[in-house]
Amino acid sequence: MTKYVYFFGGRTAEGKGEMKNLLGGKGANLAEMCLIGLPVPAGFTITTEVCNLFGDNGNKYPEGLVAQVEEALKKTEEVMGAKFGDPTNPLLVSCRSGARVSMPGMMDTVLNIGLNEKTLEGLIKKTGKDRFAWDSYRRFVQMYGDVVLGLKPQSKEEEDPFEHILKEMKTAKKVELDNQLEVEDLKELVKQFKAAVKNRTGKDFPDDAREQLYGAVAAVFASWGNDRAVVYRRQYGYPHDWGTAANICSMVFGNMGEDSATGVAFTRDPATGEKVFYGEYLINAQGEDVVAGIRTPNPIAMLQKDMPEVYAQLDDIRGKLEKHYRDVQDIEFTVQQGKLWMLQTRNGKRTGFAAIRFAVDMVDEGLITKEEALSVGRIPPDDLNQLLQPIFDPNAKRKAIDEKRLLAKGINAGPGAATGIIKFFADDAEEHVEKYGKPDSHGKRDPKGRVVLVRQETSPEDIRGMKAADGILTAFGGASSHAALVSRQMGKVCIVGCKELEINYKTRTVTVKGKVLKEGDYISIDGFTGEVMEGQVATKASEVVQVLIEKTMKPEDSKVYQQFAKLMEWADAVRTLKIRTNADNPTDSERAISFGAEGIGLCRTEHMFFEGDRIRAMREMILAETLEARRAALAKLLPYQREDFTGIFKAMKGMPVTIRTLDPPLHEFLPHDDKGQSEMATELGVSKEKVAERVKSLHEFNPMLGFRGCRLGLVYSEITEMQARAIFEAACDVAKEGIAVEPEVMIPLVGFLPEFKAQAKIVNDVAKTVFAEKGITVKYLVGTMIELPRACIAADQIASEAQFFSFGTNDLTQTGLGMSRDDYGSFIRHYLENDLMPRDPFQTIDFDGVGGLMQIGVEKGRKTRADLKIGICGEHGGDPDSVKFCHKIGLNYVSCSPFRVPIARLAAAQAALGK
Ligand code: ADP
Ligand code: MG
Ligand code: MG
Repeated sequence: MTKYVYFFGGRTAEGKGEMKNLLGGKGANLAEMCLIGLPVPAGFTITTEVCNLFGDNGNKYPEGLVAQVEEALKKTEEVMGAKFGDPTNPLLVSCRSGARVSMPGMMDTVLNIGLNEKTLEGLIKKTGKDRFAWDSYRRFVQMYGDVVLGLKPQSKEEEDPFEHILKEMKTAKKVELDNQLEVEDLKELVKQFKAAVKNRTGKDFPDDAREQLYGAVAAVFASWGNDRAVVYRRQYGYPHDWGTAANICSMVFGNMGEDSATGVAFTRDPATGEKVFYGEYLINAQGEDVVAGIRTPNPIAMLQKDMPEVYAQLDDIRGKLEKHYRDVQDIEFTVQQGKLWMLQTRNGKRTGFAAIRFAVDMVDEGLITKEEALSVGRIPPDDLNQLLQPIFDPNAKRKAIDEKRLLAKGINAGPGAATGIIKFFADDAEEHVEKYGKPDSHGKRDPKGRVVLVRQETSPEDIRGMKAADGILTAFGGASSHAALVSRQMGKVCIVGCKELEINYKTRTVTVKGKVLKEGDYISIDGFTGEVMEGQVATKASEVVQVLIEKTMKPEDSKVYQQFAKLMEWADAVRTLKIRTNADNPTDSERAISFGAEGIGLCRTEHMFFEGDRIRAMREMILAETLEARRAALAKLLPYQREDFTGIFKAMKGMPVTIRTLDPPLHEFLPHDDKGQSEMATELGVSKEKVAERVKSLHEFNPMLGFRGCRLGLVYSEITEMQARAIFEAACDVAKEGIAVEPEVMIPLVGFLPEFKAQAKIVNDVAKTVFAEKGITVKYLVGTMIELPRACIAADQIASEAQFFSFGTNDLTQTGLGMSRDDYGSFIRHYLENDLMPRDPFQTIDFDGVGGLMQIGVEKGRKTRADLKIGICGEHGGDPDSVKFCHKIGLNYVSCSPFRVPIARLAAAQAALGK
């Protein structure tokens, strides 16, 4: 008989912390906490396997489950000294979802299961607290009605049906908070809630405790498949077949009066990483109240005054948990009449700033090793991005404050600076960013396309909008509200609990201190300080960038930089993959070196043809009708190219520099509009018709597969000749100055060995000539970009001549998948949302397909040339998962844009550590 149910309680448990796949994170850790002697209310976990079986069998529980549940329920009753469904001594339970990874708020939980009119009376007799009992019943009917019976708002402007009834009651009774309602009010609420259920579903609210329990379990399992959970998994790449566990846990009550409370906390500050106990609690409340952000809770430090003994015990547990789990924990607890109960622990989600500080501090404290500090669970490489993002310029901020634009201050929940226009609804935010938020070709984004999502509080439905927004600002909720949690995970700038904001969803306005801001107005939020400012505020470089790139800050003045540097040093010590950069000018090259690059993996030469007079010479070359005319035009380009290469070689100080010969089709250098063509004709002294004709003749139906790459250099060998000359003249000049150089000439879009041979011959001949002319010889290589499926398959042939390979995974993805990067926008979303493809193949290498081609290329290439140097220079070179793949298949280096270099360094270290 398969074991479907795992008991925990007292100081024993059938499960343990490592069993997350089967028991989910919550269940496994509840068991583990029992085992280390922490106070956990008894209960049991129904495995994730049952969730999958339940779904596969048309919502039927597998055979034997009920018997196992009954057995575990009996044990639970024994430990807790109460009986489920018993009218005189009732045990209440919660039914809580929990997948193997935490998916904050994506799935459902029901509290106070087992209540009906009879057990309610029993509960009142047992505790002598009728207000508490009715409060619990009110909550139960509301939660069960929502989660299990499906009474939810039906449009985004509509209020939650239960909240609506509750609000009316509060208005009628002239109270502000639900804990101010009287017993009679609560009774009336229960009546109205049940009526609403009957009204909407046509059925009576269930009274039988077991019916309630199994209904809740079914709802929890079903919540694995709800839209927001599915979207969430897709976003983080979690498989849909993991399933969720259902945890049945004896209720303990934080709503039994002033000596009771409920709270959540982090063992350290998850926003900044500071080593302080960080959390919040509410007196006389139940768990969901804190997380839902409906009432703003008290900071945990206040508990020291409110309940000194409980605080001391909790602080002690804080230390125990960190030692035991060797990581920062995110805990949930409840105090019932002065007794502390632990309800959950897990590794806390954290910002990039906190992730690095936790890791570095814990190594210093001797809690973890350097290698552990580098693990992906602690620092996802992309999180380093946050440390490189701009912050508000202090002068601009001071000016904004002088101009009385400081509107309010909330809780700083996600560090960083965000300026954008106000949107009140997540889907509007998403739509706006989709339309106006795309970065231009330089990666710059128009401020108009940036959004700050302003809300009362956020809920799991909002995650797409939160993802689209630059910043998130909420009026309610504390540092552990949904908004704060999700923002931290996404690395968004976030301020929560900004009480002064009066948000009106209907008029789409937010009023602060008498000022009214509308949807579409600019707002700026400082996630380091919690300050909210009207209008736009200018930003400046982050501390790390100020130290490394702008050199306007000293390393010793920036703690963030010091931690960053330490971590990078540890990463470099373990990684085997080299990290290069894609750069085509000295400035970018120097930046990349500051970020730790060890060479240039791709220097695109075509970018050099656009500036100033160069484009003119380039156009002359394209218009030229004879070889002589073409050579004459190319001769004008030569000095420019040589100058560029000289600058780059000097900047790179002997590191390898891979220079790709001309790649894009020639039409990209010509104007396509009428006006542009007229101007060009005048400038070059030719007729407009001639220009138009040439443009027309260069037109291609599919330029991606057209006359480009080495095909240009083969048909017009003089182009390759000029480029090779520029490279070697520059190399010789720089070498003569005593600076080492290491040029690697890379021929693009090769598919056939003879293509490569012909181009390599030109390069080698020019090299020989230039070396003779300059009287100096430099070491160099000639290799090729592998970016066509044919090149992968024929890699053994190509490697007989090519001295290195570099995978051009942008084109290899396009040609391998038959999917153009410029056109896939129209269907990729459908593909991803319907799980037709696991990930965007232009962001992360399509491991099975394109990755398979790469593997063939590596194997065949090295069969011919065992020590073949192989790298990657597509966009994927800066994507952590792709970097790990490259390590696995044995590449020598990855190359990415300068700002991704630190990310690639960390990813490479994680790959080397196998984590
Ligand atoms: P989530 O995964 O969304 O955090 P949980 O299952 O942890 O959902 O439940 C949310 C909150 O409900 C908990 O933080 C806790 O405060 C409260 N809760 C859950 N189970 C119990 C219980 N058995 N007794 C008291 N409170 C509970
Ligand atoms: Mg929880
Ligand atoms: Mg290419």
